[in-house]
Amino acid sequence: MQNHSDSWRQSKLRPALSQLKPYVAGKGFGEISRKYGIALDAIVKLGSNENPYGPSPKVAQALASISPERYPEPEELIAGLSAYTGFPEEMIMIGAGMDGVMDTLTRLFLERGDRTFIPTPTFSYYEILTITAGGVPIFSPRGPQFEAATNVPEEAKMSFICSPNNPTGNVMSEQELSALLESTDGIVFLDEAYVEFADKSLIRLVDSYDNLIVGRTMSKAFGLAGMRLGYGVAPRWIADQYKRAAPPFYGISCASVAAGVAALDDIPFMKGSVEKILSERQRLQKETKSHPSQANFLYLETELESDAFVEKFLARGIIIRDCRSFRGAGEHHARVTVGTPYENDRFLSAFREICG
Ligand code: PMP
Repeated sequence: MQNHSDSWRQSKLRPALSQLKPYVAGKGFGEISRKYGIALDAIVKLGSNENPYGPSPKVAQALASISPERYPEPEELIAGLSAYTGFPEEMIMIGAGMDGVMDTLTRLFLERGDRTFIPTPTFSYYEILTITAGGVPIFSPRGPQFEAATNVPEEAKMSFICSPNNPTGNVMSEQELSALLESTDGIVFLDEAYVEFADKSLIRLVDSYDNLIVGRTMSKAFGLAGMRLGYGVAPRWIADQYKRAAPPFYGISCASVAAGVAALDDIPFMKGSVEKILSERQRLQKETKSHPSQANFLYLETELESDAFVEKFLARGIIIRDCRSFRGAGEHHARVTVGTPYENDRFLSAFREICG
């Protein structure tokens, strides 16, 4: 085996990638268990905005009868998403998580030198997608209530708007989104990953604007984060092109299709878990005096530097998220996912000890 020099290795990589920082995910059970010597079942994970109630029991049944030797057939899933969203099948795009949907969309729209508009702080994958496409993000700091500017710079080919926004939890109003859409002739991607926890969705606007795409996921309200299944609703001209740029089988699996179909077949289960999360969100928000949130997480101001604050929770086996890795969030924010009443009690008793 040849052992090439660092400069040889560097010369093989695309120069744009030198600006990339890897995506920072919330910490996992295994990592915290190993680091602090805490038993796995004593750890409470409130760092990744998952749904602690998981999916409908119909999902387990469906998974028991998949045919792993076959490639996936997504038709039933697309029909289910069409029924759930109220949009025709020709306007639905599917992928390996919403992340996968965004990967394909940026392959369609972004090339070297293209600018993207990203109100910060927000989900960091938009920045990673822009840079891997050779593009250049234009960051726009959000206002005092975390509102995004609604005048997109002329040079932006694509905008990434997250509502409810991760990590701040606020939503964009219909008037704001319309103003933003009218300020640009670029593509606008509205990320509604957390919309089932919010008062309303703006997905209807896809019928009125041929540059609007709405991204959704089965990871949050439907409790299928581990299945990596996301979707989007787009005008027909975009949904048609999506099929050209998508990976074979859209990057999905037999298991994710079966799970998605079963979960969509049990909307009352999903709504039940959302109800429980909303009532716990209110309880947690009141006690922590965090910012109002329309998502399944809360954005806390921390008096201590956020890494030191979060560390105190981790050492007690409670995983919450330090927001320093979110560009523009500064050094004093943490994000806490709303869990079950037991998980939230564990968090709150640690919160009282740490902040009391
Ligand atoms: N958008 C936002 C705002 C998110 O927080 C996440 C998940 N962390 C995603 C998209 C990606 O979701 P998925 O699991 O569907 O890839």
